[in-house]
Amino acid sequence: MERTRVLIAGGGVIGSAIACAMAERGVRDVCVADLDLAGRCASSELNAGGARATWWQEVNIAACRDSLAFFRDHAAELSFRPCGYLWLYTDRELWARARARRALQERLGVRVELLGPAEVARRFPLVDRNLDELCGATFSPGDGLLNPNALRKLYQERAIAGGARFLNRHHLESLELAERGGRRVVERVHFAEVAKHDADDEARLVEQILTTHRVPADATVDHVAFQPDVFVLALGAWSPLVAARLGAQGHAQPVRRQLAIVDVRAKDVAPGVDLRAAPMTVDASGLYLHPEGPYTLAGYSNPDELAGYAFGYDGDAFFEREIWPRLAHRFASFERCHHVRGWAGLYSVTPDCSGVLGPVEGVANAFQAHSFTGRGVMQSRAIGRGVAELICDGHFGALDLSALSPARFAGPRERWVEEDLHI
Ligand SMILES: Cc1cc2nc3c(=O)[nH]c(=O)nc-3n(C[C@H](O)[C@H](O)[C@H](O)COP(=O)(O)OP(=O)(O)OC[C@H]3O[C@@H](n4cnc5c(N)ncnc54)[C@H](O)[C@@H]3O)c2cc1C
Repeated sequence: MERTRVLIAGGGVIGSAIACAMAERGVRDVCVADLDLAGRCASSELNAGGARATWWQEVNIAACRDSLAFFRDHAAELSFRPCGYLWLYTDRELWARARARRALQERLGVRVELLGPAEVARRFPLVDRNLDELCGATFSPGDGLLNPNALRKLYQERAIAGGARFLNRHHLESLELAERGGRRVVERVHFAEVAKHDADDEARLVEQILTTHRVPADATVDHVAFQPDVFVLALGAWSPLVAARLGAQGHAQPVRRQLAIVDVRAKDVAPGVDLRAAPMTVDASGLYLHPEGPYTLAGYSNPDELAGYAFGYDGDAFFEREIWPRLAHRFASFERCHHVRGWAGLYSVTPDCSGVLGPVEGVANAFQAHSFTGRGVMQSRAIGRGVAELICDGHFGALDLSALSPARFAGPRERWVEEDLHI
């Protein structure tokens, strides 16, 4: 049995950001445990690297704005590029909402330009097909792209420099609750420490465990238990499983999201278009794309995707059904593009598409931070700091994140943080 001041379950970008913020506050006795710190199934490893403060809900705008300030301060380490987000609208009602939300965005310090179709064509020659469908577009020049793996590494290095430990191959198996001073607390957390395998076997084992939620009986494990003063649940899309074991509502479902890497030969690029200089562009069809090294990364979130822990990539079928038709409809440069490869990861989706941050209901020493849908990387700095403030001070500091409290789902729907500008 090991005692620790703070035990963080999950070493993705959120768990790492929390450990980093705890270290910055001088808390040295922090332990982060994860089945797979390499993140083979982790959303932090499988995302698109987009970072924008252009949202429609105040808490989401503010958390991303503050995180973006950190990314800008560490632009070289994080390969942060403020290439902007261009968001195209064909639906009049959504376009009216985009224009209406601009006042809030600007009040919170986020610059958002409103563009008519002619200006879109002039400033962004990539967008050259079916312009007559467009009602307008927003362009937010301060938003951009970063390397999410570098961000996680930066958080982890800072945390380790401040005394934190990161434990790999630790699968959280169970928790014991106890009564202390009349309140329920997390007394012990039990992990299976899985023996090291060679790379291929380890990848298979990690995926098997993270889809079945149990370590196979024939795996070699040691059993390890922790007695934490404070327990933090930061297991991304797996958090609801553990929340349920704490007697709390999970509030979120895992949903597969796929990304494709696309290649365009130089001779097929339309005249005047520089694909490498394109902003992150979100088409009205739901498709999004941005330059990714010599290629283009294109994503589309199928609204009919069923919930589940699924990591299979649909390959050419996904590209041909969802990606290519949408690309070719709006951008002549992609008429003859090629599918290179792709992958799938999990969004953890709540009923209002905003994240969960706050105490675990009914458990005095437990906190949770997870289910940031497609926003976990870009909000991570603010979330890490917010959780550290809750643990150390008992309340939020400069940025009030209480709107993300899981308690909102027990109240009237007006307390939900319904975020509609997600992709
Ligand atoms: C395709 C895709 C594109 C995205 N694009 C963006 C984007 O452009 N910008 C953005 O900000 N966000 C994006 N996101 C969302 C973002 O990636 C997530 O919100 C964020 O990474 C969540 O981080 P996390 O630390 O909460 O979870 P994860 O990174 O999933 O980490 C959870 C960790 O828990 C571990 N784990 C799970 N169960 C157990 C257990 N029982 N015991 C021990 N360890 C366990 C896993 O190994 C994993 O490392 C995207 C996501 C996907 C899938």
